[in-house]
Amino acid sequence: MLRPILIHPDPRLKKVCDPVTDITADIARLAQDMLDTMYDAPGVGLAAPQVGVTKRLLVMDCTKAPEPPRPMVLINPRITWASDDLARYEEGCLSIPEQYAEVQRPARVRVAWTALDGTGQEEEFDGLWSTCVQHEIDHLDGKLFIDYLGPLKRQMITRKMEKLKRERARGQA
Ligand SMILES: [Zn+2]
Repeated sequence: MLRPILIHPDPRLKKVCDPVTDITADIARLAQDMLDTMYDAPGVGLAAPQVGVTKRLLVMDCTKAPEPPRPMVLINPRITWASDDLARYEEGCLSIPEQYAEVQRPARVRVAWTALDGTGQEEEFDGLWSTCVQHEIDHLDGKLFIDYLGPLKRQMITRKMEKLKRERARGQA
């Protein structure tokens, strides 16, 4: 089932999310809905607060066809190691549609998380995967990629999003 994606600015996108304490049927359904919503958008990552659930859960898949898809669900993810060398990627966000900017982050990170079956996982990510997992973990701490930009650029994007939300609200009225 597709869930509506919140558009910045929204107070739910600014919250530090709560850990998932129990992998219930609701959490499993949320993860599946988030994967459906991410692939439909389309996007390569989606964090629970973006669908209005302020819990520490994210989904991602940075594979490119003809590679087989790799839908990943990360519960309570945390970065356990980050490389000293940095990488710049042009980032976008499903909560900030059609706005892109270069952000500098550690080129590689190791991340530990709990999988849907309750097992502990740890993996090192690089390239787009590394950028994506750091961007999504930021969401769980109420941080957006535009928070890395200067205040003028950030305000400009925020005003565009406020206008977009007004237009969408009118369209649905
Ligand atoms: Zn995002």
